[in-house]
Amino acid sequence: MKLYNIKDHSEQVSFEQAVKQGLGRGQGLFFPEVIEPLADVDGLLEKPLVERSVAILKHLIGDELSQEQLDKMVSTAFSFPAPLAKVSDNCYALELFHGPTLAFKDFGGRFMAQCLTAFSNGEKITILTATSGDTGAAVAHAFFGLPNIEVVILYPEGKISPLQEKLFCTLGGNIRTIAVKGTFDDCQAMVKQAFDDEELKKAIGLNSANSINISRLAAQICYYFEAVAQLPKEKRSEAVISVPSGNFGNLTAGLIAKALGLPVKRFVVATNANDTVPRYLAEGIWDPKDTVPTLSNAMDVSRPNNWPRVEELFKVKGWDLKSLGYAARSDDETRESLKKLYADGYLCEPHGVIAWDVLNANISEDEVGIFLCTAHPAKFKESVEDILKIDLELPKALADRADLPLLSAFMPADFAKLREFLLG
Ligand SMILES: *Cc1c(COP(=O)(O)O)cnc(C)c1O
Repeated sequence: MKLYNIKDHSEQVSFEQAVKQGLGRGQGLFFPEVIEPLADVDGLLEKPLVERSVAILKHLIGDELSQEQLDKMVSTAFSFPAPLAKVSDNCYALELFHGPTLAFKDFGGRFMAQCLTAFSNGEKITILTATSGDTGAAVAHAFFGLPNIEVVILYPEGKISPLQEKLFCTLGGNIRTIAVKGTFDDCQAMVKQAFDDEELKKAIGLNSANSINISRLAAQICYYFEAVAQLPKEKRSEAVISVPSGNFGNLTAGLIAKALGLPVKRFVVATNANDTVPRYLAEGIWDPKDTVPTLSNAMDVSRPNNWPRVEELFKVKGWDLKSLGYAARSDDETRESLKKLYADGYLCEPHGVIAWDVLNANISEDEVGIFLCTAHPAKFKESVEDILKIDLELPKALADRADLPLLSAFMPADFAKLREFLLG
């Protein structure tokens, strides 16, 4: 697989290099040189998740990983299902939260850990990543205890749910976590600065695990096929998929799935009040505002770093950005729709329900809708219980960690301090 840097087409890398480097020169994102459609999509849709995913990834990545390697990597990474739950006539929830940290990021995080292990050759690697909540947990658990890998995770202090924090800041070992006085965008900016620091990069073997890493996107492509595979056959070509979006990695993966030949009619972008993209699609002006905290905090991103990939894909495929549906929802609207969906018999959480609500506003009767449920309701226990007036049982993965002490360091949003910490 060859990839190029979107900001500088002369920088070309292999899949292995892209996985190890994360970002290209000038903080440019890597993008596949060609996305060749799959030969037999209908046949693939008949296969089970792991077998189908190996075939998709082999087609995409090519010779850099053998069939045998991929078999092992994918069956280790995708060790849990992604069921499509029927919510009402012509409306389905793709449940991506059945992994160890109860969010869709387990797919990408676990596959990335497999890729880095396969490519490491025993060198020491430091994974540095910023999280708005769920990436941190997925990455921490995916890499916990792996040899030669140190993980450092930055998150905005006080802006992620207490349970989210418990899930990844209590591990210790090769997992170090830092609570930054600032927003997620501040954390992301510090990470980007570190990647521009060649001396630091060399000294600690710096690597990123956030949604800019191509291996995570590659893994996420696979569950879009899994969603369509579970639809009744006659409905497959009418699927409209609504994606609750923050950094837009999930949407990028869905669009690549479509470019690979997956029959998806169109995609719908759903955001919270951090609505840079919906405003851009409506008015054609890129005008990020300050990030505001919301109930759906994993989407509290106003400068989504995967957006250039979305634009690049539309450009190379000759698609029209106007074909994207879009809308943003406030916290009040999120509360109302969570109650409505619960009354209809489906328990959701603040991220997935925004996708459901925006889907309903963007779909016609002859279409079939799928909305992505990106996290388990219990992961947002406090707000879900408060809004729905119910008691939620904690799944075991969370219950086991709820009483452990937090091990995070504290830091101002200052790159010099981070640099010291990493070298120290
Ligand atoms: C990360 C996350 C999102 C946003 O996904 P992106 O790929 O960053 O757009 C949505 N919901 C949940 C629960 C998440 O953890």
